[in-house]
Amino acid sequence: MKSNSCKVFLYIIGLLVAPVTGAAQNDFAGGYVRPLSDVAADVEQRFDVRISFRNIAPDTVGLSYADFRIRPYSVERTLTNICAPLDLKWSRRPNGSFRIEPYEYHRRTVEEGREMLAWPSSQYGSREEWERRREVLIGDVRRMMNPEPWFPMAEAPNVVRGRELRKEGYTVRNFALETLPGLYVCGSVYAPARGGSHPLVVVPSGHWPGGRLREEHQLLMASLARMGAVAVDMDIFGWGDSELQVGADAHRAGYSMRIQALWSKAVTDWVLRDRRDIDLSRIGVTGGSGGATHALLLALLDERVSAAAPMVHLVSHFDGGCPCESGIAVSLAGRGSCMPELLATLAPRPVLVVSDGGDWTASWPELEYPFVRRIWEFYDAADRVRNVHLPDERHDVGPSKRRAVYEFFAEVFGLDPSRADERRVEVLPEPELRMFADGVLPDGAVASREELEKMIMK
Ligand SMILES: [Zn+2]
Repeated sequence: MKSNSCKVFLYIIGLLVAPVTGAAQNDFAGGYVRPLSDVAADVEQRFDVRISFRNIAPDTVGLSYADFRIRPYSVERTLTNICAPLDLKWSRRPNGSFRIEPYEYHRRTVEEGREMLAWPSSQYGSREEWERRREVLIGDVRRMMNPEPWFPMAEAPNVVRGRELRKEGYTVRNFALETLPGLYVCGSVYAPARGGSHPLVVVPSGHWPGGRLREEHQLLMASLARMGAVAVDMDIFGWGDSELQVGADAHRAGYSMRIQALWSKAVTDWVLRDRRDIDLSRIGVTGGSGGATHALLLALLDERVSAAAPMVHLVSHFDGGCPCESGIAVSLAGRGSCMPELLATLAPRPVLVVSDGGDWTASWPELEYPFVRRIWEFYDAADRVRNVHLPDERHDVGPSKRRAVYEFFAEVFGLDPSRADERRVEVLPEPELRMFADGVLPDGAVASREELEKMIMK
């Protein structure tokens, strides 16, 4: 998850063992308390290592029985003993130094990811055993994500449509779809210029600056349309036109994940109702980073989705740190799971995962791919789950990642990949892809986060 809205927070250490005061307390009566910064300096000197801190101020944190936690034979054991009572964690940096930072519920080590994948794997050795597990996972995620007990749905949703823009080989038309009463999701439908029956590709956006309005996202959408697919995207909650309704800060609310999942589903249902040119046997999803999470959730919850191409996400050791990706604990489904196991619930549908060497998906070829491939093998369909790994690339949806997605959908949906010529795509200025760019909302629209929360948090 790369984000301009998911800001770095200075964590307040809630489990302060003892506050640091001016008086010396390194004795029995004082609980042998020392400031964490002093303890770290001692450890650095003793073991000849460097220790850095992230998101904590170590001179304000007191550690009780500090000297007793040091193990002269092991820096690793010492750091574990120091971090545990403060709900901190340590890691070794690529340069050999150590970093101490607050516990993160959404991030684990690659080694823990390996252990995590081994645990469910040991529970199923056949298609029948896997399908029992699959049923539990899908049932749990469905219960967690189901918006209906939580939100009042809009009964006769209002739809506002923009004018159709005609481009070379494709059209673009913006929409605003009412989902909850007065709460709109805005997006754009990119459609092939020629008639006929088309597949649909739903593309939730990731957190990159600009969201669905940024250039690389537009290139992806328009190229899919030029290839012959109807491609539809939508704002992230609190971004783009949604920011006008609820403000940017609402994105970090615990309910944002449920609203975004609702939006993916509502937009899919609406496009299928609205258009007569969609081939219901060819519905796909794709998206990068947080968009991959929501592509997966839509495919997992809606069996009409027949192919998925998540990019640069869905690993065993990182769930995405934004509440819209991990605010609802889907990775705890089935008494403990992880995103690759949830991805495996799509088997034997065709799936492509695009990964790279410059982010957390560096582990995919060696760790996550063999895990998911084993499950497709239960269906004799190992060739339907693929991994395109780009070791020299970083966390983005760049040209070679988009190319992999074009080729995947060309193959599974019978499209012409040679038509995915991005030089023929006209990148539009952001206001042209917005419905409320002039700041005017439809009558009855929610106009603040407070108004929305009054409605949904009864
Ligand atoms: Zn988010």
